[in-house]
Amino acid sequence: MNEARKKLIAGNWKMNGNRELLDVFAQQLNVPENVDVLLCVPAPYLALASNAKFKVGAQDCSAHEKGAHTGDVSVAMLQDMSVGYVILGHSERRQDHSECNDTVAAKVAQVMHSNITPILCVGEPLEVREAGDVFSYVQAQIDAVLSACDETFFDKVVIAYEPIWAIGTGKTATPEQAQEVHHFIRSYLVQKSPLAQKMRILYGGSMNASNAEKLLAQADIDGGLIGGASLKVDDFNIICQAAS
Ligand code: PEP
Repeated sequence: MNEARKKLIAGNWKMNGNRELLDVFAQQLNVPENVDVLLCVPAPYLALASNAKFKVGAQDCSAHEKGAHTGDVSVAMLQDMSVGYVILGHSERRQDHSECNDTVAAKVAQVMHSNITPILCVGEPLEVREAGDVFSYVQAQIDAVLSACDETFFDKVVIAYEPIWAIGTGKTATPEQAQEVHHFIRSYLVQKSPLAQKMRILYGGSMNASNAEKLLAQADIDGGLIGGASLKVDDFNIICQAAS
């Protein structure tokens, strides 16, 4: 484990949750001192979620600065609501909204000079893993973003490795499988900038109260991006504790 990288446990509520659940988290979430804890809530709840205990993140933002983009939310609007993080390139957005690598890159570039931290999601579908092409697939996802950003990328971006076959399926990557890809990502980025030693690389894909400890003990796993288990405060508390 690298002491220089503080662990980040980020919940992704996706299109779930409500005011009541926010209240439950505000009251019952236990945030260890040595862990950053973040909840990425649906956009309508961003303003309500603001809380002294945990950080608040959005699940997407527009690649445009402003203008005629009905339904979209700009980086400036997120800043106005004191949002600290934004998930970009989640596989569900890549799939549901046909977001390609270039769109994701444009979104990350839009966030880069704000005070919001982008959480860039990468990860392969099952057929890519079975074909043995995980590294080149993930590298292409990262390269697209790198080519849209300057050196700030290495200071600012959090990466989430989320194998698509493990998201919401209950099939977790083994700690070894996850560490192998995390190590690849870090080594690849360190070749480009030594600052990448300090970048946080989260694992996402059916992380839960039972498997978090082993995943989080891996050398290059600096936290988790958690969907299903971030909707249950008791489970989420166990995961936060496992990171401490
Ligand atoms: C996610 O939504 O990013 C995720 C990893 O979901 P789950 O934990 O439910 O697999």
